[in-house]
Amino acid sequence: MNRKKFLQSLAVLPLAGVAMKLRDLSKVTDTLGSTEQMPVLFLGHGSPMNAIEENEFVEGFRKIGQEIPRPNAIICVSAHWETKGTFVTAMEKPRTIHDFGGFPKALFDVQYPAPGSPQTALDTQSLVTKTNVGLDEKWGLDHGAWSVIKHLYPDADVPVIQMSLDYTQSPQWHYELAQELAALRKKGVLIVGSGNMVHNLRMVAWDKLNVSDYGYDWALEAREKMNAFILSGDHQPLVNFQSQGRAFNLAIPTPEHYLPLLYALALREKDENVALFNDKAVAGALTMTSVKIG
Ligand code: ZN
Repeated sequence: MNRKKFLQSLAVLPLAGVAMKLRDLSKVTDTLGSTEQMPVLFLGHGSPMNAIEENEFVEGFRKIGQEIPRPNAIICVSAHWETKGTFVTAMEKPRTIHDFGGFPKALFDVQYPAPGSPQTALDTQSLVTKTNVGLDEKWGLDHGAWSVIKHLYPDADVPVIQMSLDYTQSPQWHYELAQELAALRKKGVLIVGSGNMVHNLRMVAWDKLNVSDYGYDWALEAREKMNAFILSGDHQPLVNFQSQGRAFNLAIPTPEHYLPLLYALALREKDENVALFNDKAVAGALTMTSVKIG
């Protein structure tokens, strides 16, 4: 088609139809203004006590909160919300869930009254094609979300929704689902994975809790390899963590604390900056290593 014919064909397109198509494309994101691309975080949350203690990890969370642009909303994929199917919290006022036992009353007293964002839940639902995202009215904010987000935004004035982990799906599936959330980054949404890369509670050395950067050989080996893959952008071995040998098998006895990392990594664009922080082992069998992308 030559240029003149092309222009003629444009002229006969029904303008209302074009406008409608453009509106469809932008419907997900109209509700929030366009912003510069938000970073993506993976936060190693560790013990729930990090919610109320003062320590180097809490300082690390605070520092990140001050470094990055203030988000319009947060989507948190927490290790502590596993479901069959994928859900996002869609209530106006999520409750603070104290999903742990055997901790001091002061921890049960913590409330994190950040508002929800039903609109972000709807936007997420319309953006994802890989699965039908359900709208949840019952969950709230579990400690995987509030114990860390409270240090980034202590005034609880940034709306937070959670997205659940579908325990029936493969790591590759989670990685691909996460990629579908990319457009939200340009709408001021901070996507946060919250878990721990090395997390083997059965092997925790409780007597070494206060020894700085104490990790078993396999924990340190897993950390070193994971960090190298993350920094070089080599994600496939991290997605295929189940075939990486003994250190990874001990570091990831169950996938729920690890999978939130894949949500963060999947959103990294080519050549985007990656930085690690809170990169310490705790009590032999945990790492607090956290990732900032962008
Ligand atoms: Zn946890």
